[in-house]
Amino acid sequence: MTETLLKVENLKKFFPIHGGLFGRQVGEVKAVDDISFYIKKGETLGLVGESGCGKSTTGRMLLRLLEPTQGTIEFDGQDLTKLSKEEMRKMRKEIQMVFQDPFASLNPRHTVEKILEEPLIVHGVKSKEERKKRVRELLETVGLSNWHAKRYPHQFSGGQRQRIGIARALAVHPKLIVADEPVSALDVSIQAQVLNLLQDLQKEFGLTYLFIAHDLGVVRHISDRVGVMYLGQMMELADSEALYDSPKHPYTEALLSAVPIPDVHVKKERIVLKGDVPSPANPPTGCPFHLRCPKVMGNCASVRPVFKEVEPGHYAACHLYDEQM
Ligand code: SF4
Repeated sequence: MTETLLKVENLKKFFPIHGGLFGRQVGEVKAVDDISFYIKKGETLGLVGESGCGKSTTGRMLLRLLEPTQGTIEFDGQDLTKLSKEEMRKMRKEIQMVFQDPFASLNPRHTVEKILEEPLIVHGVKSKEERKKRVRELLETVGLSNWHAKRYPHQFSGGQRQRIGIARALAVHPKLIVADEPVSALDVSIQAQVLNLLQDLQKEFGLTYLFIAHDLGVVRHISDRVGVMYLGQMMELADSEALYDSPKHPYTEALLSAVPIPDVHVKKERIVLKGDVPSPANPPTGCPFHLRCPKVMGNCASVRPVFKEVEPGHYAACHLYDEQM
């Protein structure tokens, strides 16, 4: 069995809300509310949900760019939540992030060479020659040329900029890449090229990915398993095939009904959810999805469903599966 690289248990992130005359804490936003998952070495876990569901907060906590309120993050046998700032800085060599908006994440005043050299300097590559050689290698790896090194981010297209973002993440040979909506800002025609590049790099370097997206269509082909989040909680998690072919959770069913099918002969009914996603500052009691769920029943409004295995390797948090407990 393949080794587990990352194991997240009971992870929470609550942001305090301050108010009143003295700026006292008057509430909290439950951005991530008790989620658990693992990623095996060389695997891609897709993490999907509407904006504000806590998927990006989860990604940032893995690198401790945000401090978890509670829970453990075990990476390669070490609990990252217990590491000091300095230990975590060294650990970031192993876990890198690719951001949604490559333009915002690349310093506009730096050449590509300087951008790619920076992580090498931070992680102790002292020789200028060695850094130059690595920059050349990285550009080639992501399908750019050596002459691109002297150019600035604004001189590139969106797709090329994301290639630079990927090269920067790869610079120090990480084991895990957290890709936070890496293709959402790109034209559809370019999205496939960047997804293919990520897949090729995974094969070549044995990378492990957490791939965050708001659309189940995007993660389908790149993910081995997929987790679906709603209002800070994990609703369903399963092998890609099982999740797409036989979703267990009503929220996943609704999301999937909105994904276009390429075959025009296959007809499917779109499930239109009523209402908006409630505020994570004031989440509903019981099942977080009960105000919008087409299958809502007796205790959904009062009892939070347990996230449990409903079929081998297939997890869901829904009272529809209570009798299996
Ligand atoms: Fe719907 Fe109830 Fe299941 Fe929540 S627990 S998804 S409200 S059926």
